[in-house]
Parts: sequence; C-alpha cells; structure tokens
Amino acid sequence: MIKYKRVLLKLSGESLMGEQKYGIDPRMLSHYASQIKELTEMGVQVAVVIGGGNIFRGLQAAQSGIERVQGDYMGMMATVINGMALQSALESIGVYTRLISAIEMKQIAEPYIRRRAIRHLEKGRVVIFSSGIGSPYFTTDSAAALRANEINADVILKGTRVDGIYSADPEKNPDATKFDKLTFAKVISLGLSVMDMTAFTLCRENNLPIIVFDISHNENLARIVKGEAVGTLVEG
Ligand code: UDP
Repeated sequence: MIKYKRVLLKLSGESLMGEQKYGIDPRMLSHYASQIKELTEMGVQVAVVIGGGNIFRGLQAAQSGIERVQGDYMGMMATVINGMALQSALESIGVYTRLISAIEMKQIAEPYIRRRAIRHLEKGRVVIFSSGIGSPYFTTDSAAALRANEINADVILKGTRVDGIYSADPEKNPDATKFDKLTFAKVISLGLSVMDMTAFTLCRENNLPIIVFDISHNENLARIVKGEAVGTLVEG
C-alpha cells in the first residue's frame, strides 16, 4: 500500500510564510507538522530539508552591501531558525524529531553524521536537515538533492504553491498546461525549472525521482506516498 517508504520533503522558507511577507506563520507550521505526522503514522520515514528564504537569502545580502559569502552563511542560519520552529511544531503534537545542522551548533542541533541520520529514520524519528549543505554558493534545493541521495530516499517531494510543473508560469499565463509526468531530459529540453541546476543534475545523475506538488492541500502528502498520481513526477 505504501509506494515510497523513505521520503525527503523539501520545504522552502517561503512556504512557512503563508500570507505574510516575512517570517513564520504558526498556522503553516502546524499544517506541515500534522501532515508529516500522518506520514509517520503510516510507517513512512520522513526527512525534511528546510529552506530559509522567508528570513534571509544570500543574494539579497549582496545587494545591501553584505559580502555574498557572509550573506549565504546568514541564509544558512535562517534555515536553522526555521528548523527549530518546525521541530517545536512536530514535538507539540507528539512526533519524535532530530534537528541536524550542517554547520556545527551542538547546543541546538546534532552535527550531520550520515549513519546516525539514517538510524534516526529507522527508529521512526523525523529528521530535519538545516544549514543546507553547510557551504556558501549552494541552496537548500541542492541540500535536498544531496541528502536524499545520501540517505537513499525513494523520492524527493518538493512542496510548492502550484500543483505541479506547468509549460509556463500558471500564476502569470492562463494557457499554461500541467504535466503529470516528465523525464529529466524533457525538463531540460523544454527549459522548465524544477529545482536549481546543481540540485537537478544530482537527481538526474543518480536517477532519484522528484515529485513537485501543491503542499497546501491537506491530503496530498499521504496520497503521494500511497502511489497516487499527485502533482508532477520527474524520473528516468
Ligand atoms: N544557503 C547556502 N548554502 C546552502 C543552503 C543555503 O549558502 O547549502 C543560503 C543561501 O544564501 C540561500 C539561503 O541560505 O539563499 C536560504 O536558502 P534557500 O534560498 O535555498 O531557501 P528557500 O528558497 O528554500 O526558502
């Protein structure tokens, strides 16, 4: 009944904002927490890579006179703040979690040790990866692709505001059509954007499927792990 037994969920910082312009909307946090809980109750192992764009992005720092690398580290710190918030939301509804940081911060988060992270998953704990990959010039999409490969996840679930990959931006172009399935090669030949190129290439080279879906719908995550066709599946 369960198609994907170990999943890596990529949650962008923006998805935590809800209708706000900045920061964390507690309603969004509890929305994600309860959906993640549902997966754990189904016996699915869940790892989350959390973004930071709702608080800080390295590129935006460069425009305000902060050196790019410094800004990237600030962005990574933002992911830790989000990770702590998600951890709290999960724990408040009785889900066991471990927050892991790619930058050592041992008072708040565990260091990243691959085998330990896998062990947590096997024990049914939700693992939240923060600080991206711990290096500037990368994104949390790259972290999602890297960690998903490292922990042998069955799929990357990329939650967005739209219900899949479209031929054009559906929020701007009413004629845009949705794809149910795409190959990696087709995404490139059509010039579609799924994740940034570094992340996408890592998934393509290791044949790791990506599902882009609308995370605001309550049942989507549970439907996806059961193998129902939700969003757009990129594979092969
Ligand atoms: N970042 C980084 N290295 C990483 C992951 C993130 O330097 O491995 C920085 C980068 O500046 C990025 C910011 O952290 O802009 C926030 O991450 P991201 O933009 O990926 O968050 P999201 O778009 O998912 O909210």
